[in-house]
Amino acid sequence: MKNYQPMDIKNIYYWSNYHSHCQFCDGHGSMEEFVASAIAKGVKKFGFSSHAPLSFNPSWTMKVDKFADYVIEFERLKLKYKDEIELFLGLEVDYIHDCSDVQNDFFKDKKFDYLIGSIHFMDRMSNGHYWGIDAEISAFDSGLKDLFDGDIKLAVERFFEISASMINKGGFDIVGHLDKIAINAGFYKEFSTKMNWYETLVAETLQLIKAKNLLLEINTRSLSKHGVSFPNQQFYSLINDLQIPVVVNSDCHELTNIKDGFEVTFEALKKAGFKTMHQLNNSEWQAVEFDEKGLRG
Ligand SMILES: [Zn+2]
Ligand SMILES: [Zn+2]
Repeated sequence: MKNYQPMDIKNIYYWSNYHSHCQFCDGHGSMEEFVASAIAKGVKKFGFSSHAPLSFNPSWTMKVDKFADYVIEFERLKLKYKDEIELFLGLEVDYIHDCSDVQNDFFKDKKFDYLIGSIHFMDRMSNGHYWGIDAEISAFDSGLKDLFDGDIKLAVERFFEISASMINKGGFDIVGHLDKIAINAGFYKEFSTKMNWYETLVAETLQLIKAKNLLLEINTRSLSKHGVSFPNQQFYSLINDLQIPVVVNSDCHELTNIKDGFEVTFEALKKAGFKTMHQLNNSEWQAVEFDEKGLRG
C-alpha cells in the first residue's frame, strides 16, 4: 500500500495584491524588489499600480516619459518570475473632474490588465492648486476654509458627488480607497462616520458601484495607523448584502507592507458574511474562496 503524505495545507493558500507603488512613482523599492518581497510573503498574484501621470506633475505620480520603461521592466519580470508569481500591469488613475480620468488620450493606445480609479484631489482652490483630500491636516484645513468655508459636511458631500461622477463615467476596473477623506474629516468634531447623513452617502455610492458592475477595493493601508480600512469596516455587511465583488489590496509603498493587515481583514470580511473575493484569472475577474489564512486554490 502506498504511504500517502497528508496534504500540506499551507501550499493551497495564497495572497494577492493589485495595489502597489514602486520607484516608478512614490514607492520605495524597485519593481524587482517588490516582486522578490511578494514571493517571500506567499503572494501569488501581484499587480503594479503606479500613480498615472498627471499634467501638473505632482511629486508622487509617474512622469510620462517613464511609462515605456515601466512596461519594459514589467514584461521582463513577468517572464523571469513566471513560475513563482503571476504579475499584472495596472495603474492607479486619478479622477479629477476637469483634468484627469481614464478617457484621457494617454490611455488610448495602451493595454493594461486592470486600472484602479481613485480620488486624491477635489476642486481647485483660489491659489489655482487642487485641494488634496489626503494632504497633511494643516493643508487640508486651509483648503476646507478656502473652498467650503470650513464646512466639513459640505466637503464630504462634494467628495462623494465627485466619486459618483467617476463611477458613472467608468472605464476602470477597481474603485480605489472609497472613503479616504474620512481620515482627515475625522479631525473635525462636526464629523463622524456613524452620522446618518454620512452612512446614507456611502450606501448610495456603494449602490452605484453595484449598478455599474465595478470591483470595490478593500484597502488596508491605514489599518495599522488608524485602525480602519477603506471602506471602513462598518460597511462590510452592507457591501456583502449588495453582493459587490471585492478585492483586498494593501496600497503598499514599502517592501515590508505588501500584505499588511490582510489576515485581520480577511477574517473581518468572513465574519461579515463574505464567501469569496475576486481575482484575475486568465484576464478575467473571478470569485475565489478565502478564509483568514488566505485565498484558496
Ligand atoms: Zn491612492
Ligand atoms: Zn495607491
